[in-house]
Amino acid sequence: MFREMRRKKQILGKQESIDVLKNKTAGVLALLGDDDYPYAVPISYVYDNSKIYFHSAKEGHKIDAIKKCSKASFCVIDQDNIVPEEYTTYFRSVIVFGKIRILEDEKEIREAIERLAIKYHPEDSKENRGWVISKEWRSLCLIELSIEHMTGKEAVELVKGKKQFE
Ligand SMILES: Cc1cc2nc3c(=O)[nH]c(=O)nc-3n(C[C@H](O)[C@H](O)[C@H](O)COP(=O)(O)OP(=O)(O)OC[C@H]3O[C@@H](n4cnc5c(N)ncnc54)[C@H](O)[C@@H]3O)c2cc1C
Repeated sequence: MFREMRRKKQILGKQESIDVLKNKTAGVLALLGDDDYPYAVPISYVYDNSKIYFHSAKEGHKIDAIKKCSKASFCVIDQDNIVPEEYTTYFRSVIVFGKIRILEDEKEIREAIERLAIKYHPEDSKENRGWVISKEWRSLCLIELSIEHMTGKEAVELVKGKKQFE
C-alpha cells in the first residue's frame, strides 16, 4: 500500500537512508491530530534497528494524537543547500511510515531512554547517565515508531555529482 517514488534515479539506498536517520538530530513527526487535521511536530529522536524512539511529556497534542491513531510518518532533512542561481536546492531527506506506540514496559523504557541519552550526550559517564535517568524516571514518556516503509531521496544534482566520481 505504500507508494513507490516516481523519480527512481533519486532514490537513496537503504543504508544511506539509515545513515541519515542515524546522523541527524531532529525530524518532523506527523500524526493524526485534533479533528483529523494532520499534526506535524518537530522532535529529537534516535534510530535503532528499524525503530525510532522519542521522548515526550506525558500529555499534550502529540500524546493525544498517538493514543487516537497508531499510524505515523516521520521526516528527517539531511541537507538543504540552496543554489540561488539555479533556483533550486540540493536536498537530501528520508521519510518513514510506521506504527507508533507509547512504551509501558519498564525495560523497554529504560533501553529507549538510554539510547536517546547516549546519542545526545555520548561523552557522559554511565554513572551520571544512570543518575539523570533515575532522577527523571517518574516523568519519562518514551515513544516507539516501528518502521514499515522507508524512502530516501536526493536532488538530481547530487545524483549526478556522485556519478562523476564513479
Ligand atoms: C529541534 C526540536 C527538537 C525537539 N525535541 C523534542 C523532544 O525530544 N521531545 C519533546 O517532547 N519535544 C521536543 N520538541 C518540542 C516539540 O516540538 C513540541 O513542542 C513538544 O513535544 C510539545 O508537543 P505537544 O504536542 O505535547 O504540545 P502542545 O502544547 O500540546 O501542542 C499544542 C499546540 O501547540 C503548538 N505547538 C506545539 N509544539 C510546537 C512547536 N514545536 N512549534 C510550534 N508550535 C507548536 C501546536 O499548534 C499544537 O497543536 C522539540 C522541538 C524542536 C524544534
